[in-house]
Amino acid sequence: STPGGPKTKEEKIVVTVRLRPLSKKEQLAKDQVAWECVDDRTIVFKPPTQERTAQPAPFTFDKVFGPTCLTETVYEDGVKNVALSALMGINATIFAYGQTSSGKTYTMRGITEKAVNDIYKHIMNTPERDFTIKISGLEIYNENVRDLLNTESGRNLKLLDDPEKGTVVEKLVEETASNDQHLRHLISICEAQRQVGETALNDTSSRSHQIIRLTIESTLRENSDCVRSFVAGLNFVDLAGSERASQTHADGARLREGCHINLSLMTLTTVIRKLSVGKRSGHIPYRDSKLTRILQHSLGGNARTAIICTLSPALSHVEQSRNTLFFATRAK
Ligand code: ADP
Ligand code: MG
Repeated sequence: STPGGPKTKEEKIVVTVRLRPLSKKEQLAKDQVAWECVDDRTIVFKPPTQERTAQPAPFTFDKVFGPTCLTETVYEDGVKNVALSALMGINATIFAYGQTSSGKTYTMRGITEKAVNDIYKHIMNTPERDFTIKISGLEIYNENVRDLLNTESGRNLKLLDDPEKGTVVEKLVEETASNDQHLRHLISICEAQRQVGETALNDTSSRSHQIIRLTIESTLRENSDCVRSFVAGLNFVDLAGSERASQTHADGARLREGCHINLSLMTLTTVIRKLSVGKRSGHIPYRDSKLTRILQHSLGGNARTAIICTLSPALSHVEQSRNTLFFATRAK
């Protein structure tokens, strides 16, 4: 493993929660805020009713970001250290997890933008190394993998087991970014491609996972005999709506139309729970879904993970918000 890699569980997985403001639509519908951020690590259920019977138990995480927090703060305090470790050869993955409309895409786009700024700042400040940044983008919809940088390649790319690289996506395009502008442009192509699918297939974004993967390589310029080279992947993962993993929808009575359990999301939650328990958790079912196969080498081993759990503050969403917080608690 890389010297300076993550050693303790705390270094490996950072779990944060972001509570968004009540939307205009929710305000118009007279929905109300049901959660309060007590301090920067604690969130508690606080319904707007007068009755104060039992005090609900607060939830505690590495960080809790309230409705007035900017994405800048979420990045600085919850993501930056994990993301920048990819510059030192440590694989890193940033997830946004939460129900549909809780703010995953909003948060992940801002985070990606800020990470790109920081990566190029680091490159500018590190003239002794040569950096190469490559990008690929994919979407997993209904266990089918689609290339977001090459729509010609179809909707069901195969996964292959490469003896060196582990699981790779066959024919997935990887572009080398010539500079930060170019990288931003390529990212925007991935984001636009996902939206194309969204209108064509009726709300795919709530059912699909998007991964934008940067591969960051660097070598020392002089002294080619003892070149110290680093290579690592940095994944930005905008997950399907977490309502598709929740147990409450698995029983017939509650099964809403079209709300199928999402295999990749279910498997991911199991994998993360097992990883957070540590070494003695036994078999980790990476191979049970496309998402976990693709991310396997970015999750266990020499890797760091940040999970941002996004939460709607609305009273009408309390059940899903609780499910998200239970997931976040198990991931710690
Ligand atoms: P998701 O991807 O989880 O379905 P979105 O990111 O699309 O949710 O967010 C739903 C809506 O809420 C969008 O209109 C988005 O702009 C808005 N939103 C989300 N998070 C925030 C936030 N922290 N501050 C302000 N608006 C937000
Ligand atoms: Mg979204």
